[in-house]
Amino acid sequence: MSERTYAATERLFDRDPGCRAFDAAVLGCEPAGDGWDVILDRTAFFPEGGGQGADHGTLGGARVTDAHEKGGVIRHRCDAPLTPGDPVRGEIDAARRLDQSQQHTGEHILSGTICARFGCDNVGFHIGADTVTVDFNRALTDEDVALAERLANECVWRDVPVEAFVPSPEELETIAYRSKKAIDGDVRIVRIEGADTCACCGTHVPTTGCVGQIKVLSRISYKGGVRLTVVCGGRALAHANDLLAEYRAVSRLLSAKPGTLADATSRLLAERDGLAFRLEKLAQRVFARDAEAQRGEAIRVVEAEMLAPASLRKSAGSLASGARFGLVLIPGEGGSSFALCAGDGAYSAAAAAKALCERFGGRCGGSAEMAQGVLLSGDPAALRAALTEVTA
Ligand SMILES: [Zn+2]
Repeated sequence: MSERTYAATERLFDRDPGCRAFDAAVLGCEPAGDGWDVILDRTAFFPEGGGQGADHGTLGGARVTDAHEKGGVIRHRCDAPLTPGDPVRGEIDAARRLDQSQQHTGEHILSGTICARFGCDNVGFHIGADTVTVDFNRALTDEDVALAERLANECVWRDVPVEAFVPSPEELETIAYRSKKAIDGDVRIVRIEGADTCACCGTHVPTTGCVGQIKVLSRISYKGGVRLTVVCGGRALAHANDLLAEYRAVSRLLSAKPGTLADATSRLLAERDGLAFRLEKLAQRVFARDAEAQRGEAIRVVEAEMLAPASLRKSAGSLASGARFGLVLIPGEGGSSFALCAGDGAYSAAAAAKALCERFGGRCGGSAEMAQGVLLSGDPAALRAALTEVTA
């Protein structure tokens, strides 16, 4: 199918970023993906680009779920076809546009501030579903980022205009601006006094105050520089609310007042460590008593519920001292963990463990001296009887 050519779409969002509803003529409608691509003579739908997501909304009765631009022609992905030649009313999802513009404008302020302050370039920018990532080609410390965040928010509080204009080539020569790539033709400049001058074709809020807040959530090393994860505006508020909800939930669980959660958690962990220590001491005492009761036996089997898995091998070793076999079991969900030690050189622990696993179900591995694994069934008496039958 040969692709139809269309005139470049008039970009209403460039000269009137506040436009949320408009009238246009349908130039074309083509099946695409799981819907249709609709081409108009003019549009207020911003197409995906420069790190910013596409506008969503409606064209007549059709839902617009994406918009993309190629060669100046903007295609609107719709869930229903429209008729070429018909007039149509377009409406932008205003909440989504505001969110995208808040993130985008906040990124300008933060990136402009960081690049000027620390002499680096913004080399990546993406507005995700929940957060925004911004990449710089220079290492920054937490203190650097905290300073930049503070300065960027001061720009928000000054509530200065976000200007967008296309200067003449002569005028452009006199403007120092940030740009990720070389640009042919007209260059649209976005200028925020005291924070940023940048080549950009995205949508922005009218003044910096509309960004609300710029909050850096994290900083990681990335490709020799840093990647910051950021939320602005409504996302910053939502994030604060999520954190507060979690904070309150933890506060209730610990019965600790806000402001004392770290201390309460430290106390809880110290208590847990103390209990684990006392439990292990108790487990060792019980184990020693059970081992002592079998001192005269050639085959010794001890089930030790309280024993820590880390002491399984050591316990089996001491149990097997002076015996043919020492088997220690820690029963748990999905079977008993075990360690089997051969006390004299005449028998192989690995072979005996394999025989037990074949008979009672389970898996194991090890050497002639010591084997370890999990047994799915078998009580101590049955296991002892089985070990008695092992002849090598
Ligand atoms: Zn921009």
